[in-house]
Amino acid sequence: MQDRLTAQLGEMVLTGDAVLPYCRDWIGDVQSSALAVLRPRTTAQVQDCVRVAAALGLGIVPQGGNTGLVLGAMPDAPDRQVVVSLERMTAIRNLAPNDFAIEVEAGAILQDIKDAAAQVGLYFPLSLGAQGSCRIGGNVSTNAGGINVLRYGMTRELVLGLEVVLPNGSLFAGLSSLRKDNRGIDLKQLFIGAEGTLGIVTAVTLKLVPAPTAIATALVALDDLEGAIALYRHARRDCCDLLSAFEFMPPLAFTLAREAMPDLPLPMDPGHPAYALIEMSGSGLVDVDDLMARFLERALEGRLARDGVVAQSRAQAANLWAIREGMNLGQVQRGRHLRTDISVPLSQLATFVSEAEAAVADVLPGAVCVSYGHVGDGNVHLNVLPGPGADADIQIARAKTAIDAALDRHAGSISAEHGIGRLKRAAFEARLPPAQARLLQAIRQAVDPEGIMNPGCQITPRPATSGSVQGA
Ligand SMILES: Cc1cc2nc3c(=O)[nH]c(=O)nc-3n(C[C@H](O)[C@H](O)[C@H](O)COP(=O)(O)OP(=O)(O)OC[C@H]3O[C@@H](n4cnc5c(N)ncnc54)[C@H](O)[C@@H]3O)c2cc1C
Repeated sequence: MQDRLTAQLGEMVLTGDAVLPYCRDWIGDVQSSALAVLRPRTTAQVQDCVRVAAALGLGIVPQGGNTGLVLGAMPDAPDRQVVVSLERMTAIRNLAPNDFAIEVEAGAILQDIKDAAAQVGLYFPLSLGAQGSCRIGGNVSTNAGGINVLRYGMTRELVLGLEVVLPNGSLFAGLSSLRKDNRGIDLKQLFIGAEGTLGIVTAVTLKLVPAPTAIATALVALDDLEGAIALYRHARRDCCDLLSAFEFMPPLAFTLAREAMPDLPLPMDPGHPAYALIEMSGSGLVDVDDLMARFLERALEGRLARDGVVAQSRAQAANLWAIREGMNLGQVQRGRHLRTDISVPLSQLATFVSEAEAAVADVLPGAVCVSYGHVGDGNVHLNVLPGPGADADIQIARAKTAIDAALDRHAGSISAEHGIGRLKRAAFEARLPPAQARLLQAIRQAVDPEGIMNPGCQITPRPATSGSVQGA
């Protein structure tokens, strides 16, 4: 089979040990394998890859930066699947400042897109910890969120147009910088968040906004999560759309960040019960430094905050963000642990977290909960570091059951921003109402009747049927 792939696709094909780095997840928990990794350089080559793989009856697993946290880009049938990596399709095709838009190939790294926009005084707002490695096709396919969602929305709100290779090799040519286009159903939305189950995104037109000319960043000490939510509500009212990030962190964030980055300076007493990292940004004549100073003054006077430091330079701001990012790395270094990506209505967030943490403490007295996240979006990562003794996997399963039960009581989502992938498929399907399940299956069968696109991702594959809606 590998010989036939190489005969038809030539130097695009990697086999043997060369596939292994593409088959290891970002955390390092899972090492899988694949028949081959295909690395096209152009959209036409992606079409060739899809046609050849389909003719050989192989499943196709699209891959961007492989930073997804739910095993969506991880093959699970090594002898029947190929990875199609977009890593060689990184071109910025058209930077169009007059349209406040940029057209890029799907393999472009998110940070490179942000840098390209910055060169013309514009800003691409999608911002997340993996932005130096994740690729825009992956961001689109997971509808990524990140720290700026409360101001600019999820990736879906930043996509103007898409080019997608469909499962029969034909092209959905939907690149466009039109802001308004109400010609019937907006089909590109189907592919956003589809996690590679309906086709391979090869290029994207993205919205750009004026680059903030001033950014104020502050770290604030608080009594608890409830206090963070109260402060967030004030910030929304007092600072309106100038509020661009509001992240909640427990005191353990400092310990975890220091474990990952031993030289990281601590800007504040790490002994408070809770912290929020707040960012306000503006362009033009707006004075965000003054706004932040007055907001914090009022918060301290009103006892909404215990203490606060405002970054005085870009380096200090970067240091504050390094605590937030460093705590992720610190958790990885502690070994196997439960990671969640949960959302509940903001009004229920504090109650949910305390109920879920208590439920975990009941079943696993030695485990440590680390709850943090994008509070403004009602999004919390309630992670659990297993305690000593019992097997980590058993503890992770117990903690997950306890958290899911609390989440279901609050009608929350098991995936606020990371998607379903393979990791959350069973939990997703167990909660899927029948009408939505039928609709999802129908869409998938209509677009991909042979079931070749990312089989096993999001929903359990059904037997193939005949009849495709794709063009030639
Ligand atoms: C440190 C860290 C911080 C993170 N923070 C956030 C965060 O704040 N918010 C957030 O939302 N996520 C976050 N993530 C998760 C991850 O970065 C995002 O899901 C990201 O969008 C994945 O992009 P990728 O290029 O790495 O995609 P991959 O991991 O390669 O793929 C993800 C999914 O998309 C599919 N896919 C990839 N490329 C294509 C394509 N061209 N066409 C079709 N399907 C494709 C894959 O098959 C897979 O199902 C974080 C991850 C890490 C490691």
